[in-house]
Amino acid sequence: MSQTTKMLIPDAEGFEDAAKILGAGGLVAFPTETVYGLGGDARNDHAVARIFEAKGRPKFNPLIVHVPDIETAKTHVEWGDAADRLASAFWPGPLTLVLPLKPDAGLSPLVTADLPTVAIRVPAHPVARQLLQTFGGPVAAPSANPSGRISPTQAAHVSAGLSGRIEAILDGGACDVGVESTIVGLSDTPTLLRPGGLPVEALEQALGAPLSHHGKSDPLTAPGQMTSHYAPGAPMRLNVTDPEPGERLLGFGPVDCTLNLSRAGDLTEAAANLFHHLHALDAQGDGPIAVSPIPQTGLGLAINDRLKRAAAPRDV
Ligand code: AMP
Ligand code: MG
Repeated sequence: MSQTTKMLIPDAEGFEDAAKILGAGGLVAFPTETVYGLGGDARNDHAVARIFEAKGRPKFNPLIVHVPDIETAKTHVEWGDAADRLASAFWPGPLTLVLPLKPDAGLSPLVTADLPTVAIRVPAHPVARQLLQTFGGPVAAPSANPSGRISPTQAAHVSAGLSGRIEAILDGGACDVGVESTIVGLSDTPTLLRPGGLPVEALEQALGAPLSHHGKSDPLTAPGQMTSHYAPGAPMRLNVTDPEPGERLLGFGPVDCTLNLSRAGDLTEAAANLFHHLHALDAQGDGPIAVSPIPQTGLGLAINDRLKRAAAPRDV
């Protein structure tokens, strides 16, 4: 997709424009205290699919959801005492909490890679804060660079990497370099998932207890690393053009099928539908599922990666 990428200034009009773009499912890059983030409405499947598309990410790894305040965070996640202690001590700031999703959280399953948990934070950068307040909704935002390239710390870096692929860049000047958010998992024993800007000692002091560490030898919890992550109960066959009798076809393109990822053959639409359709097929029963071939280009890489995991032998 090629379009004009607007450069927005962080004044009243710029924030209004940016919020309007997000509300319409568009993408806006904005500064946080770590790096520039590539923001999209975390409730909008199509917007989130476009984040992966714009970055050229070959996998649907979970994204951090940015919210303006603790109250908003509580509408999406199961809050608890540990979350309260850490958030009241360190939000807004470079701390991401991984918490169980509320049943009615309203977030796109693409944001969480269909996990039952979500990574959430309240950023401290004044431009990010004002944007979130003006928009009034949760914003999914990985770093605003093409996959595999260096993280951007200036609007010009974002523009060099993503111009023509996103609607706008909110120019908030240079951000502090190199302080990634510390990620703490709270869905179980409080666990350090990624070290970052906040030292462990400060976190442990606020928590009043030591943090477990996510050692390399621990069972893998990052979804991208598991062979069979979300798998429907039914057996799945991929790259099928002629389904067997009794197979339900998850289609792509103009085919006769049970559910279609995108009749028009649009990979962004297919990505937006992927988890919803897998869940719907699962809810229908456990008859075998066949899946149409998905082109191995653009978002097709991430879709095929996830389908391969869903079709992998279940005993791994
Ligand atoms: P970034 O690409 O810098 O925004 O990093 C996002 C980080 O958050 C990655 O390391 C993810 O694996 C991690 N993450 C996001 N959501 C979750 C989750 N639900 N559970 C565990 N880790 C998560
Ligand atoms: Mg990144």
